[in-house]
Amino acid sequence: MPHTIVSNICEGVADCVVACPVACIKPGQGKNEKGTDFYYIEFDICIDCGICQKVCPVEGAVLAEEREDLQSL
Ligand code: SF4
Ligand code: SF4
Repeated sequence: MPHTIVSNICEGVADCVVACPVACIKPGQGKNEKGTDFYYIEFDICIDCGICQKVCPVEGAVLAEEREDLQSL
C-alpha cells in the first residue's frame, strides 16, 4: 500500500523528496492550513519502501497507508 503525506501536517521541509528512491514525491499547489509548502506522493509510483516516513522530521506528516482523503495535490 502506498504511503501518504498528510497535506495539512507536512511543513514542506522536503527531506523526503531527495530520499525517495523512485522520485514520486511532488510539490503540492499553494499552501496548506499551516501556511507552509507541502508535498504529495504519487500513489501509482510509490513502492512502499517507508524511507520518506523515516526521514521526515515532522511527526504524523507521513502515513504508511493510502489516504487520498488526507492528501491534496
Ligand atoms: S512529508 Fe515530511 S519530509 Fe516530506 S516535505 Fe513534508 S514535512 Fe518534509
Ligand atoms: S514509501 Fe518510498 S517510494 Fe513511497 S513515497 Fe515514500 S520514499 Fe517514495
